[in-house]
Amino acid sequence: MLLVLNAGSSSLKFSLYDDAPAGADPAVRHRGQIEGLLGQARFVVRDGAGAEAARRDWPEGVALGHDGAMAFLLDWIRTDVGGAGLKACGHRVVHGGREFTRPVLVDEAVLERLQALVPLAPLHQPHNLSPIRAIRRALPGLPQVACFDTAFHRTQPWEAETFALPAKLTAQGILRYGFHGLSYEYIAEALRGLDPVLGRGRVVVAHLGNGASMCALDDGRSVATTMGFTPIDGLPMGTRSGAIDPGVILYLLRQRGMSAEQVERLLMHESGLLGVSGVSSDMRTLREKAASEPGAARALQLFAYRIVREVGSLAAALGGLDALVFTAGIGENDRALRAEVCRALGWLGIELDDMANARAGGTSPPTQISRSGRCAAWVIPTNEELMIVRHTSEALADTPRA
Ligand code: ADP
Repeated sequence: MLLVLNAGSSSLKFSLYDDAPAGADPAVRHRGQIEGLLGQARFVVRDGAGAEAARRDWPEGVALGHDGAMAFLLDWIRTDVGGAGLKACGHRVVHGGREFTRPVLVDEAVLERLQALVPLAPLHQPHNLSPIRAIRRALPGLPQVACFDTAFHRTQPWEAETFALPAKLTAQGILRYGFHGLSYEYIAEALRGLDPVLGRGRVVVAHLGNGASMCALDDGRSVATTMGFTPIDGLPMGTRSGAIDPGVILYLLRQRGMSAEQVERLLMHESGLLGVSGVSSDMRTLREKAASEPGAARALQLFAYRIVREVGSLAAALGGLDALVFTAGIGENDRALRAEVCRALGWLGIELDDMANARAGGTSPPTQISRSGRCAAWVIPTNEELMIVRHTSEALADTPRA
């Protein structure tokens, strides 16, 4: 059995996977989360078929915290699931810096190096590392594998990851790391299985969720991506601004007297679809309100416009485009957005197949939504968690038995 953990600022998401024969993907046994870690905590678990398997609510005023949540989860696994069968744990870790170009088996030295990367992702990295430490204390012999959002992009050529800043700062690690790497890696593998020729081609993947970014794949490897030093860069997102003129930040600090914390809140939590619309950060709500709320319609228009422009930029980095892939919550489900983007990219050779586009998404399998033309368009559901499971199984297979 493998445990997968994705620890955020206020929630701990987890899955348990059954063992599988070598080469096969394991099946989900349980999936759940403990949310409200800082306030009123709630634990809910579902089985592989989606039926509720366990639940617990903590009373108001009891802050469970990250350590408390991990202790509870390990106890639940031990007593209710049979912890003896646990073979390893895979973690989603936001930042692997420059040095981690692939997942890594965690020991004390690795943990120290990951801790040194906290300043690069101060809001996320500490939460990703705290369950690794908790498991090292509780189950010291359990192999743990850190899987990074940044690692997949370390194949970018230097010009794609370098800001035009003094070289000294680049040498100190101020560069475009890129994120959503586990999603892009999954899509690259899936596309190779669906269409081996496209899998080796020039592909732009649009990962459009609450967080949104795009990646240029050449022969399945990242050569450019829209997120940069932080996941604020690139496309506008649910509540994040995406790329803006850095001069705006200087203006806000100097002329408007805003503090760094206020600017951070503005760029991270008050901008993007929410800021532009004044209505919501959620695509479904914006679609519902687009006819009655001009702000909602403007947010949708700006989002599509920025996606189209970034596809142009990434296609230029690739020297042409063979396929565009949509994925994540919005990419998989919002047909209208896919149609708008594909139509605007007709000049790249994409010919939308309306019927296929209407069919694609939800629970349907990967679907080609273009007619055969110069450039294909696909909808492929992503699965970052499965990528962590694969990496964790591989690391286990590579680990010499004691
Ligand atoms: P994240 O993992 O980054 O939190 P998701 O990949 O779950 O985000 O995507 C969430 C986004 O997907 C939200 O904006 C949500 O409105 C959108 N979404 C989900 N289902 C639909 C749908 N049927 N139509 C349009 N948008 C959808």
